[in-house]
Amino acid sequence: METSPWPVPPPFMWRCARCTDLLKKLITRSSAGPGSFYEQLTLAKHIVADHPGEVPEPHGADCALCAHYAKHGDTSLSEEHRVRSLFMPPGVARST
Ligand SMILES: [Zn+2]
Ligand SMILES: [Zn+2]
Repeated sequence: METSPWPVPPPFMWRCARCTDLLKKLITRSSAGPGSFYEQLTLAKHIVADHPGEVPEPHGADCALCAHYAKHGDTSLSEEHRVRSLFMPPGVARST
């Protein structure tokens, strides 16, 4: 499996105890292998709920998932998808 580099999470995540905790769990799990989906989802939901100002803009026309969510009006799914790019490698973040 190709390993893409993990992004450095933005400062707001390090200032938040819950973000830091979930992030550490996610990184520990992911380096052990696949199966970190639960941690990803928990962290993504937390950021959308508690850091709404930090949710990135839609990725644009080159992202099939953003286009799909925009068309179907799935706002919360779209936001959870976009926040993954804050803390996961782009190739992984855009596939979920
Ligand atoms: Zn947080
Ligand atoms: Zn996207």
